[in-house]
Amino acid sequence: MIYKPYKNIFLSRLGLGNMRFPTTDKEGQHIDYEKAHAIIDAAFENGINYFDTAHVYNNTDSESCLGECMKKYPRDKFYLATKYNIGAEKDYKGMFEAQLKRLQTDHIDFYLIHCLMDSNIEEYLNSGCIEYFLEMQKQGKITYLGFSSHASTKTLERFADHHQWDFAQIQLNYYDWHFGATEEEYNILTKRNIPIMVMEPVRGGKLSTLTPDAEELLKKSRPDASISSWAFNFVKTLPNVLVVLSGMNDMSQIEDNIKTFSTTDSLSPAEIDILMEAIELFKKQYTAPCTSCRYCTPNCPMKINIPEYLRVYNKFKLDGAWALGETKWIQSDGTPADCIMCGSCMNHCPQSINIPKYLKELAEAMEK
Ligand code: SF4
Ligand code: SF4
Repeated sequence: MIYKPYKNIFLSRLGLGNMRFPTTDKEGQHIDYEKAHAIIDAAFENGINYFDTAHVYNNTDSESCLGECMKKYPRDKFYLATKYNIGAEKDYKGMFEAQLKRLQTDHIDFYLIHCLMDSNIEEYLNSGCIEYFLEMQKQGKITYLGFSSHASTKTLERFADHHQWDFAQIQLNYYDWHFGATEEEYNILTKRNIPIMVMEPVRGGKLSTLTPDAEELLKKSRPDASISSWAFNFVKTLPNVLVVLSGMNDMSQIEDNIKTFSTTDSLSPAEIDILMEAIELFKKQYTAPCTSCRYCTPNCPMKINIPEYLRVYNKFKLDGAWALGETKWIQSDGTPADCIMCGSCMNHCPQSINIPKYLKELAEAMEK
Protein backbone atom coordinates (compact mmCIF):
# COMPACT_ATOMS: atom_id res chain seq x y z
CA MET A 1 0.00 0.00 0.00
CA ILE A 2 1.24 3.45 -0.82
CA TYR A 3 0.69 6.35 1.58
CA LYS A 4 0.56 10.12 1.36
CA PRO A 5 1.55 12.52 4.12
CA TYR A 6 -1.23 14.73 5.49
CA LYS A 7 -0.46 17.19 8.32
CA ASN A 8 1.49 14.92 10.70
CA ILE A 9 0.03 11.55 9.63
CA PHE A 10 0.24 9.18 6.67
CA LEU A 11 -2.96 8.17 4.90
CA SER A 12 -3.31 5.11 2.68
CA ARG A 13 -4.03 6.25 -0.87
CA LEU A 14 -6.88 3.72 -1.01
CA GLY A 15 -9.68 4.06 1.54
CA LEU A 16 -12.55 1.70 2.28
CA GLY A 17 -16.02 3.11 1.64
CA ASN A 18 -18.47 1.38 4.00
CA MET A 19 -21.70 1.85 2.06
CA ARG A 20 -21.93 -1.26 -0.10
CA PHE A 21 -21.64 -4.15 2.34
CA PRO A 22 -23.78 -7.26 1.91
CA THR A 23 -26.98 -7.04 3.95
CA THR A 24 -29.29 -9.64 5.47
CA ASP A 25 -32.50 -7.88 4.36
CA LYS A 26 -33.85 -6.62 1.05
CA GLU A 27 -34.22 -3.08 2.39
CA GLY A 28 -30.48 -2.91 3.10
CA GLN A 29 -30.93 -1.82 6.72
CA HIS A 30 -29.05 -4.70 8.36
CA ILE A 31 -25.49 -5.50 7.36
CA ASP A 32 -24.21 -9.06 7.31
CA TYR A 33 -21.53 -8.41 9.98
CA GLU A 34 -19.60 -11.62 9.32
CA LYS A 35 -19.13 -10.85 5.62
CA ALA A 36 -18.56 -7.14 6.19
CA HIS A 37 -15.99 -7.72 8.93
CA ALA A 38 -14.07 -10.09 6.64
CA ILE A 39 -13.82 -7.25 4.08
CA ILE A 40 -12.84 -4.61 6.67
CA ASP A 41 -10.23 -6.95 8.20
CA ALA A 42 -8.75 -7.75 4.77
CA ALA A 43 -8.57 -4.02 4.00
CA PHE A 44 -6.82 -3.26 7.29
CA GLU A 45 -4.43 -6.20 6.97
CA ASN A 46 -3.47 -4.98 3.48
CA GLY A 47 -2.52 -1.54 4.77
CA ILE A 48 -5.70 0.50 4.28
CA ASN A 49 -6.00 2.93 7.21
CA TYR A 50 -8.87 5.20 6.09
CA PHE A 51 -12.43 3.97 6.70
CA ASP A 52 -15.34 6.09 5.53
CA THR A 53 -18.93 5.72 6.72
CA ALA A 54 -22.02 7.89 7.45
CA HIS A 55 -25.09 7.69 9.67
CA VAL A 56 -27.32 7.46 6.62
CA TYR A 57 -25.55 4.33 5.33
CA ASN A 58 -27.74 1.31 6.10
CA ASN A 59 -29.76 3.48 8.50
CA THR A 60 -26.76 3.85 10.93
CA ASP A 61 -25.82 0.14 10.79
CA SER A 62 -22.70 0.89 8.72
CA GLU A 63 -21.29 2.96 11.61
CA SER A 64 -22.18 0.24 14.15
CA CYS A 65 -20.66 -2.48 11.97
CA LEU A 66 -17.42 -0.54 11.46
CA GLY A 67 -17.12 0.39 15.15
CA GLU A 68 -17.65 -3.21 16.20
CA CYS A 69 -14.97 -4.46 13.80
CA MET A 70 -12.30 -1.82 14.47
CA LYS A 71 -12.43 -1.99 18.28
CA LYS A 72 -9.92 -4.86 18.24
CA TYR A 73 -7.25 -2.75 16.53
CA PRO A 74 -5.04 -0.07 18.17
CA ARG A 75 -6.91 3.22 17.78
CA ASP A 76 -3.86 5.09 16.46
CA LYS A 77 -3.43 2.65 13.55
CA PHE A 78 -6.52 3.71 11.56
CA TYR A 79 -8.58 6.79 10.72
CA LEU A 80 -12.36 6.95 10.92
CA ALA A 81 -14.38 9.24 8.69
CA THR A 82 -18.09 9.81 9.18
CA LYS A 83 -20.58 12.50 8.28
CA TYR A 84 -23.54 14.59 9.42
CA ASN A 85 -26.53 14.73 7.05
CA ILE A 86 -28.96 17.53 7.88
CA GLY A 87 -31.68 16.17 5.60
CA ALA A 88 -31.86 12.95 7.61
CA GLU A 89 -31.48 14.40 11.13
CA LYS A 90 -31.81 17.94 12.46
CA ASP A 91 -30.37 17.22 15.94
CA TYR A 92 -26.66 17.46 15.09
CA LYS A 93 -25.55 17.40 18.73
CA GLY A 94 -27.49 14.22 19.52
CA MET A 95 -26.37 12.65 16.26
CA PHE A 96 -22.69 13.39 16.90
CA GLU A 97 -22.83 11.81 20.39
CA ALA A 98 -24.64 8.75 18.96
CA GLN A 99 -21.98 8.42 16.24
CA LEU A 100 -19.17 8.33 18.81
CA LYS A 101 -21.03 5.52 20.60
CA ARG A 102 -21.73 3.54 17.43
CA LEU A 103 -18.13 3.86 16.30
CA GLN A 104 -16.93 2.99 19.83
CA THR A 105 -14.48 5.87 19.94
CA ASP A 106 -13.89 9.14 21.77
CA HIS A 107 -13.01 11.06 18.60
CA ILE A 108 -13.68 11.09 14.85
CA ASP A 109 -10.55 11.63 12.76
CA PHE A 110 -12.25 12.99 9.64
CA TYR A 111 -15.72 14.49 10.07
CA LEU A 112 -17.76 15.72 7.12
CA ILE A 113 -20.78 17.85 6.47
CA HIS A 114 -22.55 15.34 4.23
CA CYS A 115 -23.79 15.77 0.69
CA LEU A 116 -23.75 19.52 0.18
CA MET A 117 -26.24 20.43 -2.53
CA ASP A 118 -27.72 23.62 -3.93
CA SER A 119 -30.93 22.76 -2.07
CA ASN A 120 -29.40 22.36 1.42
CA ILE A 121 -26.56 24.90 1.61
CA GLU A 122 -28.71 27.51 3.40
CA GLU A 123 -29.84 24.96 5.97
CA TYR A 124 -26.27 23.87 6.64
CA LEU A 125 -25.05 27.46 6.94
CA ASN A 126 -27.90 28.62 9.17
CA SER A 127 -28.39 25.61 11.45
CA GLY A 128 -25.37 26.26 13.69
CA CYS A 129 -24.02 22.78 12.97
CA ILE A 130 -20.73 24.00 11.45
CA GLU A 131 -19.99 26.16 14.51
CA TYR A 132 -20.81 23.20 16.75
CA PHE A 133 -18.48 20.87 14.84
CA LEU A 134 -15.72 23.51 14.94
CA GLU A 135 -16.20 23.57 18.72
CA MET A 136 -15.97 19.76 18.79
CA GLN A 137 -12.73 20.11 16.86
CA LYS A 138 -11.37 22.51 19.50
CA GLN A 139 -12.31 19.97 22.16
CA GLY A 140 -10.44 17.20 20.29
CA LYS A 141 -13.54 15.16 19.48
CA ILE A 142 -13.04 15.89 15.76
CA THR A 143 -9.52 15.98 14.35
CA TYR A 144 -10.17 17.24 10.82
CA LEU A 145 -13.36 18.90 9.60
CA GLY A 146 -14.45 18.80 5.97
CA PHE A 147 -17.45 18.32 3.73
CA SER A 148 -18.66 16.19 0.86
CA SER A 149 -20.33 17.81 -2.10
CA HIS A 150 -22.72 17.04 -4.93
CA ALA A 151 -23.41 20.74 -5.43
CA SER A 152 -22.99 23.03 -8.44
CA THR A 153 -19.62 24.74 -8.77
CA LYS A 154 -21.16 28.03 -7.59
CA THR A 155 -22.43 26.47 -4.36
CA LEU A 156 -19.19 24.58 -3.90
CA GLU A 157 -17.21 27.83 -4.12
CA ARG A 158 -19.48 29.55 -1.61
CA PHE A 159 -19.25 26.71 0.90
CA ALA A 160 -15.50 26.26 0.40
CA ASP A 161 -15.06 29.93 1.35
CA HIS A 162 -16.91 29.54 4.69
CA HIS A 163 -13.60 28.99 6.52
CA GLN A 164 -10.38 27.06 5.87
CA TRP A 165 -11.73 23.51 5.65
CA ASP A 166 -9.26 20.69 6.33
CA PHE A 167 -10.42 18.57 3.37
CA ALA A 168 -13.35 17.96 1.02
CA GLN A 169 -14.81 14.91 -0.69
CA ILE A 170 -16.12 15.02 -4.24
CA GLN A 171 -17.20 12.59 -6.94
CA LEU A 172 -14.17 12.35 -9.20
CA ASN A 173 -13.58 9.97 -12.08
CA TYR A 174 -12.32 10.28 -15.64
CA TYR A 175 -15.85 10.18 -17.09
CA ASP A 176 -17.08 13.18 -15.09
CA TRP A 177 -13.72 14.90 -15.58
CA HIS A 178 -14.15 14.63 -19.36
CA PHE A 179 -17.88 15.21 -19.70
CA GLY A 180 -18.88 16.97 -16.45
CA ALA A 181 -17.75 19.78 -14.15
CA THR A 182 -15.32 17.74 -12.04
CA GLU A 183 -12.17 19.42 -13.30
CA GLU A 184 -13.61 22.79 -12.29
CA GLU A 185 -14.53 21.41 -8.84
CA TYR A 186 -11.00 20.05 -8.45
CA ASN A 187 -9.56 23.46 -9.35
CA ILE A 188 -11.89 25.31 -6.94
CA LEU A 189 -10.67 23.17 -4.04
CA THR A 190 -7.03 23.11 -5.10
CA LYS A 191 -6.93 26.92 -5.39
CA ARG A 192 -8.10 27.09 -1.77
CA ASN A 193 -5.57 24.52 -0.51
CA ILE A 194 -8.30 22.03 0.37
CA PRO A 195 -7.06 18.45 -0.16
CA ILE A 196 -9.49 16.07 -1.84
CA MET A 197 -10.88 12.70 -0.82
CA VAL A 198 -12.35 11.01 -3.87
CA MET A 199 -15.69 9.23 -3.99
CA GLU A 200 -17.08 7.30 -6.96
CA PRO A 201 -13.70 6.80 -8.73
CA VAL A 202 -15.30 4.06 -10.88
CA ARG A 203 -18.70 5.81 -11.00
CA GLY A 204 -20.55 3.19 -8.95
CA GLY A 205 -18.84 0.38 -10.91
CA LYS A 206 -19.86 1.73 -14.34
CA LEU A 207 -16.19 2.28 -15.28
CA SER A 208 -15.18 -1.27 -14.32
CA THR A 209 -16.58 -2.63 -17.57
CA LEU A 210 -16.56 -0.56 -20.75
CA THR A 211 -17.73 -1.40 -24.25
CA PRO A 212 -15.58 -3.99 -26.16
CA ASP A 213 -13.95 -1.39 -28.45
CA ALA A 214 -13.08 0.89 -25.52
CA GLU A 215 -11.69 -2.03 -23.52
CA GLU A 216 -9.62 -3.19 -26.50
CA LEU A 217 -7.99 0.22 -26.72
CA LEU A 218 -7.00 0.12 -23.05
CA LYS A 219 -5.86 -3.51 -23.20
CA LYS A 220 -3.61 -2.70 -26.16
CA SER A 221 -1.86 -0.07 -24.10
CA ARG A 222 -1.65 -2.00 -20.80
CA PRO A 223 -2.39 -5.70 -21.43
CA ASP A 224 -2.22 -6.80 -17.79
CA ALA A 225 -4.11 -3.93 -16.23
CA SER A 226 -7.76 -4.32 -15.24
CA ILE A 227 -10.27 -1.82 -16.61
CA SER A 228 -10.94 -0.53 -13.06
CA SER A 229 -7.24 0.11 -12.53
CA TRP A 230 -7.32 2.77 -15.27
CA ALA A 231 -9.97 4.63 -13.31
CA PHE A 232 -8.01 4.39 -10.07
CA ASN A 233 -4.73 5.35 -11.72
CA PHE A 234 -6.39 8.40 -13.28
CA VAL A 235 -7.46 9.81 -9.89
CA LYS A 236 -4.26 8.73 -8.19
CA THR A 237 -2.31 10.79 -10.74
CA LEU A 238 -3.93 14.10 -9.65
CA PRO A 239 -1.62 15.87 -7.17
CA ASN A 240 -4.32 17.30 -4.86
CA VAL A 241 -5.99 13.92 -4.30
CA LEU A 242 -5.27 12.40 -0.90
CA VAL A 243 -7.39 9.26 -0.47
CA VAL A 244 -9.39 7.41 -3.11
CA LEU A 245 -12.43 5.67 -1.65
CA SER A 246 -13.72 2.42 -2.98
CA GLY A 247 -16.84 0.65 -1.71
CA MET A 248 -15.28 -2.80 -2.08
CA ASN A 249 -17.66 -5.62 -1.32
CA ASP A 250 -15.76 -8.74 -2.32
CA MET A 251 -12.25 -10.09 -1.97
CA SER A 252 -11.38 -10.02 -5.68
CA GLN A 253 -12.07 -6.27 -5.76
CA ILE A 254 -9.88 -5.75 -2.71
CA GLU A 255 -7.04 -7.75 -4.29
CA ASP A 256 -7.21 -5.86 -7.60
CA ASN A 257 -7.41 -2.45 -5.91
CA ILE A 258 -4.61 -3.26 -3.47
CA LYS A 259 -2.46 -4.17 -6.49
CA THR A 260 -3.26 -0.81 -8.14
CA PHE A 261 -2.36 1.04 -4.95
CA SER A 262 0.81 -0.91 -4.26
CA THR A 263 2.85 1.31 -6.60
CA THR A 264 3.06 5.02 -7.32
CA ASP A 265 2.64 4.12 -11.00
CA SER A 266 0.51 6.80 -12.65
CA LEU A 267 -0.81 7.49 -16.12
CA SER A 268 1.41 9.29 -18.61
CA PRO A 269 -0.09 12.17 -20.68
CA ALA A 270 -0.22 9.78 -23.68
CA GLU A 271 -2.12 7.20 -21.62
CA ILE A 272 -4.57 9.85 -20.41
CA ASP A 273 -5.24 10.66 -24.09
CA ILE A 274 -5.94 6.96 -24.75
CA LEU A 275 -8.30 6.87 -21.78
CA MET A 276 -10.20 9.88 -23.10
CA GLU A 277 -10.45 8.22 -26.51
CA ALA A 278 -11.81 5.08 -24.84
CA ILE A 279 -14.43 7.00 -22.87
CA GLU A 280 -15.64 8.69 -26.03
CA LEU A 281 -16.10 5.25 -27.63
CA PHE A 282 -17.82 3.98 -24.50
CA LYS A 283 -20.23 6.90 -24.32
CA LYS A 284 -21.09 6.61 -27.99
CA GLN A 285 -22.07 2.95 -27.69
CA TYR A 286 -23.42 2.87 -24.19
CA THR A 287 -25.70 5.86 -24.49
CA ALA A 288 -27.82 7.32 -27.27
CA PRO A 289 -25.76 10.07 -28.98
CA CYS A 290 -28.76 12.38 -29.28
CA THR A 291 -27.98 16.05 -29.95
CA SER A 292 -31.56 17.25 -29.24
CA CYS A 293 -31.94 18.58 -32.78
CA ARG A 294 -35.61 17.46 -32.70
CA TYR A 295 -35.73 16.50 -36.42
CA CYS A 296 -37.42 13.28 -35.34
CA THR A 297 -40.29 14.58 -33.24
CA PRO A 298 -42.65 15.96 -35.94
CA ASN A 299 -42.54 12.51 -37.57
CA CYS A 300 -43.67 10.52 -34.57
CA PRO A 301 -47.34 9.46 -34.90
CA MET A 302 -47.47 8.84 -31.14
CA LYS A 303 -46.18 12.35 -30.32
CA ILE A 304 -43.38 11.10 -28.11
CA ASN A 305 -40.90 13.71 -26.88
CA ILE A 306 -38.00 11.57 -28.15
CA PRO A 307 -34.96 13.74 -27.24
CA GLU A 308 -36.17 14.26 -23.68
CA TYR A 309 -36.74 10.54 -23.15
CA LEU A 310 -33.32 9.78 -24.66
CA ARG A 311 -31.77 12.31 -22.26
CA VAL A 312 -33.25 10.39 -19.31
CA TYR A 313 -32.27 7.08 -20.92
CA ASN A 314 -28.63 8.21 -20.97
CA LYS A 315 -28.78 9.27 -17.32
CA PHE A 316 -30.39 5.95 -16.45
CA LYS A 317 -27.59 4.02 -18.17
CA LEU A 318 -24.86 5.96 -16.41
CA ASP A 319 -26.38 6.72 -13.01
CA GLY A 320 -28.89 3.94 -12.43
CA ALA A 321 -32.61 3.57 -11.84
CA TRP A 322 -33.04 6.70 -9.70
CA ALA A 323 -32.70 8.79 -12.88
CA LEU A 324 -35.98 7.32 -14.17
CA GLY A 325 -37.83 9.63 -11.74
CA GLU A 326 -37.13 12.46 -14.18
CA THR A 327 -39.54 10.97 -16.71
CA LYS A 328 -42.35 12.36 -14.52
CA TRP A 329 -41.45 15.92 -15.53
CA ILE A 330 -41.20 15.32 -19.28
CA GLN A 331 -43.86 17.15 -21.28
CA SER A 332 -45.00 14.66 -23.88
CA ASP A 333 -48.29 13.33 -25.26
CA GLY A 334 -46.87 9.85 -25.79
CA THR A 335 -44.64 7.82 -23.48
CA PRO A 336 -41.92 5.30 -24.48
CA ALA A 337 -44.45 2.51 -23.91
CA ASP A 338 -46.63 4.03 -26.65
CA CYS A 339 -43.96 3.57 -29.33
CA ILE A 340 -45.35 1.40 -32.15
CA MET A 341 -41.86 0.75 -33.62
CA CYS A 342 -42.85 2.29 -36.97
CA GLY A 343 -39.29 3.59 -37.51
CA SER A 344 -40.45 6.89 -38.98
CA CYS A 345 -38.29 8.88 -36.53
CA MET A 346 -35.14 6.99 -37.54
CA ASN A 347 -35.44 8.18 -41.14
CA HIS A 348 -34.99 11.74 -39.92
CA CYS A 349 -32.27 11.26 -37.31
CA PRO A 350 -28.89 12.64 -38.50
CA GLN A 351 -27.16 10.58 -35.80
CA SER A 352 -28.68 7.30 -37.09
CA ILE A 353 -29.94 6.45 -33.62
CA ASN A 354 -32.03 3.31 -33.28
CA ILE A 355 -34.69 5.29 -31.40
CA PRO A 356 -37.35 2.55 -30.96
CA LYS A 357 -34.74 0.20 -29.46
CA TYR A 358 -33.77 2.75 -26.79
CA LEU A 359 -37.39 3.68 -26.09
CA LYS A 360 -38.30 0.01 -25.64
CA GLU A 361 -35.49 -0.46 -23.12
CA LEU A 362 -36.55 2.69 -21.29
CA ALA A 363 -40.21 1.62 -21.23
CA GLU A 364 -39.21 -1.74 -19.73
CA ALA A 365 -37.08 -0.06 -17.06
CA MET A 366 -39.92 2.37 -16.23
CA GLU A 367 -42.35 -0.53 -16.00
CA LYS A 368 -40.08 -2.27 -13.47
S1 SF4 B 1 -40.66 4.32 -33.88
FE1 SF4 B 1 -41.70 4.98 -32.02
S2 SF4 B 1 -40.77 6.89 -31.52
FE2 SF4 B 1 -40.21 6.48 -33.63
S3 SF4 B 1 -41.77 7.53 -34.81
FE3 SF4 B 1 -42.50 5.45 -34.52
S4 SF4 B 1 -43.75 5.56 -32.67
FE4 SF4 B 1 -42.52 7.42 -32.72
S1 SF4 C 1 -33.32 13.36 -34.60
FE1 SF4 C 1 -31.89 12.02 -33.52
S2 SF4 C 1 -30.40 13.42 -32.63
FE2 SF4 C 1 -32.14 14.68 -33.25
S3 SF4 C 1 -33.43 14.79 -31.42
FE3 SF4 C 1 -34.16 13.06 -32.58
S4 SF4 C 1 -33.05 11.32 -31.74
FE4 SF4 C 1 -31.97 13.14 -31.08
